Amino acid sequence: MKKECKIIQDLLPNYIEELVSEDTKLFIDEHLKKCENCQEALENMKEKLTTNAEKVDKTVNCLKRYNRELKVLQIILLIILVSFVLKVGHKVIILNSLENNFEKALNSQNFYTKCEEYSSGKIVENAARAMSTKETYYKDGDYLSTFSFSDENGRKREINYYEANGEKKTFLSSTNAGQETIHEDITNSSEEKVIYRPNCYIVESEYNKLYMAIFMDIDKVQIGKDNCYRIRDGNVERYIDEKTGITIKVVNIKDGIILDMYYEVGNVNEDDIIIPVEIDK
Ligand SMILES: [Zn+2]
Repeated sequence: MKKECKIIQDLLPNYIEELVSEDTKLFIDEHLKKCENCQEALENMKEKLTTNAEKVDKTVNCLKRYNRELKVLQIILLIILVSFVLKVGHKVIILNSLENNFEKALNSQNFYTKCEEYSSGKIVENAARAMSTKETYYKDGDYLSTFSFSDENGRKREINYYEANGEKKTFLSSTNAGQETIHEDITNSSEEKVIYRPNCYIVESEYNKLYMAIFMDIDKVQIGKDNCYRIRDGNVERYIDEKTGITIKVVNIKDGIILDMYYEVGNVNEDDIIIPVEIDK
């Protein structure tokens, strides 16, 4: 390589970037016109620079795209988080209002409750037959509770708890198929009094409430004329009356057990609460 060519080629990078003086530029232009070697060197250099520039462009584009995707992902995550918080918040509001309504309903000194347990067919053949019935008449501290059920031998049994006017009585009635009903006074052997109170959904603590709001499905449904909230926890669905916060139905999907609960406030009279053995059913 000629000495001049060497100098020219050293200057070529600055020449391409237009960093050389006017005189140097003219000198290089003159040389390039007559030297094929340096022309070739110039072309190679330009090509190399373009390739490098393209590579840089590609990287920049990649970073830009990555940045855009990251932003979209952030927005999606934010939307998910906000909708989750809103959903949980909404459920907490529902649970709070049910709890408040139940507090009000529970203060009643006069109520009647009835709870019937059914099977949807997996346990007893006749799905319409109640497996057990619990009933309570309650008025100003006096009550009459009845628990009726069929035992494993098909015997109908009924336990009546009575507490009124300072008197306590417990009777057990058993009826064998086609036979007379036998009443037994078990007042002294019975363990404890039983009042079937209106049943609330179960919230033990604020933590428990939050757990329910996060993990359980809560939706609004209608049972007959009543507006209810259905709270679903695994296999158990609990239907809670919107106005009173009282549970009116519990369905265990897995076992096929259905509890139908009925309640009435303010309609119990003194003659509803009478000594049970006198009720000859
Ligand atoms: Zn040359």
